[in-house]
Amino acid sequence: MRKLSYLITAVIGAAALSAGCDGGAQTSSQAASSQPPVSSASVAQSSAPASVASVSSSVRSSSSVAPSPSSVASSSSIASSSSAASSSEAPINLPLVLAINAGSTTAVNFEGVRFEADKYSRGGMAHTTTDPISGVSDDALYQSERYGTYGYEIPVLAGTYTLELHMAELYWTENGARSFNLSVEGSQEFSALDLHSQVGHDGAFSHTVRNIRVTDGTLNIDVEALTDAGTISGFALYSADGGIDTTVQLPDCNGYVGLTFDDGPTGNTRTFISRLKQNNLTPVTFFVNGQNISDPSIIPAMLEVGQVQSHAFTHDNLSNLGYQQVYDLLNRNNQVIMNAGAPKPTVFRPPYGALSSTVNQVASELGLYAITWDVDSQDWNGASGSAIVSAVGRLQDGQNILLHENQANTINNNTLAQIAANLEQRGLCPGVIDPRTGRVVAP
Ligand code: ZN
Repeated sequence: MRKLSYLITAVIGAAALSAGCDGGAQTSSQAASSQPPVSSASVAQSSAPASVASVSSSVRSSSSVAPSPSSVASSSSIASSSSAASSSEAPINLPLVLAINAGSTTAVNFEGVRFEADKYSRGGMAHTTTDPISGVSDDALYQSERYGTYGYEIPVLAGTYTLELHMAELYWTENGARSFNLSVEGSQEFSALDLHSQVGHDGAFSHTVRNIRVTDGTLNIDVEALTDAGTISGFALYSADGGIDTTVQLPDCNGYVGLTFDDGPTGNTRTFISRLKQNNLTPVTFFVNGQNISDPSIIPAMLEVGQVQSHAFTHDNLSNLGYQQVYDLLNRNNQVIMNAGAPKPTVFRPPYGALSSTVNQVASELGLYAITWDVDSQDWNGASGSAIVSAVGRLQDGQNILLHENQANTINNNTLAQIAANLEQRGLCPGVIDPRTGRVVAP
């Protein structure tokens, strides 16, 4: 079973994380997931208007299909309201409205149709694989998935639609490990679907739902996990009389992530601030060491692009110090930050991520929520600009990343531009740390 090896990998990854500069105790909880670590994570919801440009490639002449669902798997029953078993084999001779490559930030072609980067989802998590897919010649569509209990909400004009769903069992290697329900516009298409029992591990499974009447402006695809998680790798929507409702604006942000910069201010902070503005990468969170504030006027400048929070007055490892020393370093930092014109800090990150019961106690007494990080960019350890960008690419909604404003690769304008592009592509926006929970929320 592959699951065990994924868990081992995850544990090794966590152990590796706890070494190095700010890499002390890692207390921010990574959401436990039954899926492997996500490498090219995506909660994509592009803010670009939906495209109907591929109408020219509209008429399908072939359809790939897995074994007729009704012929397999006693544990899986298929609602036949749209006569799935027989009609899924027939070609779809309708104009294409939209095709989505679920769980991926990139577009792919499958049998002559362009599937766009993932959007219109509500909830779920992205996962990708490089495993070859059996049963199809174009593997790429099936090599990503959105999994969990989640939905797609596609803004469409009133009309009648045909939906072609593509799925694969990318994770489990045995029957019974995953099952889920799937409904389209409120009508159940699959009950307790077990993809492995249908097509095995890494096999392509397709299913066509016809005659979907939509009158409420939204075509809904709902995935409900029963065992483990539900999954979709992609879908294509066709219609003779419908189309995307281009007047519907997608929300600008599908989630919020925390860009946190430690160890400043530095002599480059003003340049850094202007680059953050230039790349619309705001707000950020600065965890400052008060002893670095040589000119207090830098603090109001930092407040223009985010929040100034506490990294203690010096960069000592506080877990080695006693109560009074810790208290003095945190209290003094608060005073210096406030004297420079910032609000009283509400969030505190210990140098090296080094927490202790004493540090937690002092932080609590001073009204500081102590956090570490969810993703370590490794910029303190010499990570390249592109490595820093890919670390940002692992951030999920609500998480924060450890960065440093004294690292040239981090405050490099090209790095910042690529970070902005990565977040925009995934529909994520910079947010602020909630001092009650440590999670990143809307500013
Ligand atoms: Zn630090």
